[in-house]
Amino acid sequence: MTSPPAPVVGRFAPSPTGAMHLGNARTALLAWLHSRALGGRHLLRFEDLDTERVRSWAFDTTRRDLEWLGLDWDAEYVQSQRLDVYADALMRLTAAGETYPCTCTRRQIVQAIQDSAGAPHGAEPIYPGTCRVHPAHPGRPAAIRWRVPDRVVCAHDALTGETLCQNLPAEVGDFVLRRNDGVFAYHLAVVVDDAMTGVTDVLRGADLWPATPRQVALQGALGYPTPRYLHVPLMTDFQGQRLAKRGGAPPVQALRQGGEAAGRVLSSLARSLGWDVPEVVTVNDLLPLWRLRLAQAEFLPTSQT
Ligand code: GLU
Repeated sequence: MTSPPAPVVGRFAPSPTGAMHLGNARTALLAWLHSRALGGRHLLRFEDLDTERVRSWAFDTTRRDLEWLGLDWDAEYVQSQRLDVYADALMRLTAAGETYPCTCTRRQIVQAIQDSAGAPHGAEPIYPGTCRVHPAHPGRPAAIRWRVPDRVVCAHDALTGETLCQNLPAEVGDFVLRRNDGVFAYHLAVVVDDAMTGVTDVLRGADLWPATPRQVALQGALGYPTPRYLHVPLMTDFQGQRLAKRGGAPPVQALRQGGEAAGRVLSSLARSLGWDVPEVVTVNDLLPLWRLRLAQAEFLPTSQT
């Protein structure tokens, strides 16, 4: 006899750094549809560790925007209230000899790359591991880096069917787990939270796909299971540019307060995905369309659609 499939737990994890725009709302909608279409629990997690970028009003505005659209959640987590769980995970890696302190400045890192044969590629320079061999400067606040395992790690996307493999030392490098100002890094927090809150399905923007293999590697090091990943395209404006909080994308709040009907906004979000829907819809109307999308991705047996 086969055991019944584990109950699905999904999440939406906004960074409360400004007002949600339509692109954020579309990801929020899809994350909700995914959890609910599979009869799962849905979590809301505020990723507010980077306190300098956080706006205190953004928490409530985000909650209201989600409620207005009809996107509910079963539990809420706020990362800044969970610092002890990240500290604990970091301590475990440190106790296993997998981390080291680092006081290299950005400038030193770029210089070290130029001095070696390698050239920086991609947006972020790959840390060349200077502090693995040269101890950190004792008088300066140190970041904590993960000594990445010397291997290739692959991530699979259950929606797109893609697999992404990265050689950790060559393509990622020893990345920061805690910044030198004491702030826990996103990669650590996201991996710890998804595991500790029982998340089985991570649906998020495609911008995070390249970061997935390193998160999978970190899960392995911490003894956590790897959730299923589903990356969805980011919404772009009419010029094909990705919508950004700072880039003047229409905030959901403005539509809500301006008297727009939530059902029309949902319809335009669904239409932007190429879904053929009436001008006014509810989130429940969209559930069968997401089930169909999953069936196309062979995520669900077609009999369940
Ligand atoms: N907080 C991230 C963002 O708003 C999402 C992180 C994730 O879903 O893993 O882009």
